[in-house]
Amino acid sequence: MIKDKVVLITGASSGIGAATAKLLASKGAKLVLGARREDKLRKLADEITAAGGTVAYETIDVTDAESNQRIVQFAKDKFGGLDVIFLNAGLMPNSPLSELKTNEWNSMIDVNIKGVLNGISAVLPTFKAQKSGHVIATSSVAGLKAYPGGAVYGATKWAVRDLMEVLRMESAQENSHIRTATIYPAAIKTELLSTTTDQATLKGAKALYDEYQISPDRVASVIAFAIDQPDDTNVSEFTVGPTDQP
Ligand code: NDP
Repeated sequence: MIKDKVVLITGASSGIGAATAKLLASKGAKLVLGARREDKLRKLADEITAAGGTVAYETIDVTDAESNQRIVQFAKDKFGGLDVIFLNAGLMPNSPLSELKTNEWNSMIDVNIKGVLNGISAVLPTFKAQKSGHVIATSSVAGLKAYPGGAVYGATKWAVRDLMEVLRMESAQENSHIRTATIYPAAIKTELLSTTTDQATLKGAKALYDEYQISPDRVASVIAFAIDQPDDTNVSEFTVGPTDQP
């Protein structure tokens, strides 16, 4: 059941995170939104409140472990507990390896991998102690299939896949009743391409997205489906994307 669950979303200021926040709030969840851009978080929180939802927000940088600890504590203080964390913040500054955009490689590793690890470490003690909880993370179809220009992004998303599968296995072994779900979106209409600086890569990506992208609301629906299952049922993985995208 979604109603009354406390759900913390990272990368909530736009795209998939924002769409998921709106949908879950409309189904009665209590939302805690985290991202760096406060103006975007405030606007979204106002929209959710105006629609009758329950929401709070805090600016965070997922690359900072303390920031993740702080927002988990904020959620618990505000709503008396935490049921779901959606580790969704991500960047995709794709480029060929030969361009040696090493700063961008490092930011992807910091946000897409360390950000997820920081979120897991912030929430795991709480979920283990309460013997319940749901960790959801956004990987990508790039975490399932390699493509030129996507070496580092793909590597970070493969890492998310591995981390989440091992979290699922260890949680089951420890009988901690923690559910996990990893989502693998294909082309979704969000702000993600704004982080791509390599112009040739951007041109190719835009051409693909112009042809195939679907709304982030579709991803939000499958996340809601996973949360809505009974506590003994774990929807651990799903891909979601445009029907005709090859
Ligand atoms: P957006 O660019 O719209 O959203 C990315 C979100 O991540 C923003 O809310 C941004 O907020 C947040 N973010 C980035 N860096 C940080 C940081 N250091 N600390 C906190 N928050 C951060 O794109 P999407 O909605 O598409 O991206 C969401 C996830 O979906 C990502 O993990 C992405 O890799 C994945 N994905 C997207 C696909 C697509 O086609 N759109 C396909 C496959 C996967 P802010 O800038 O305010 O901090």
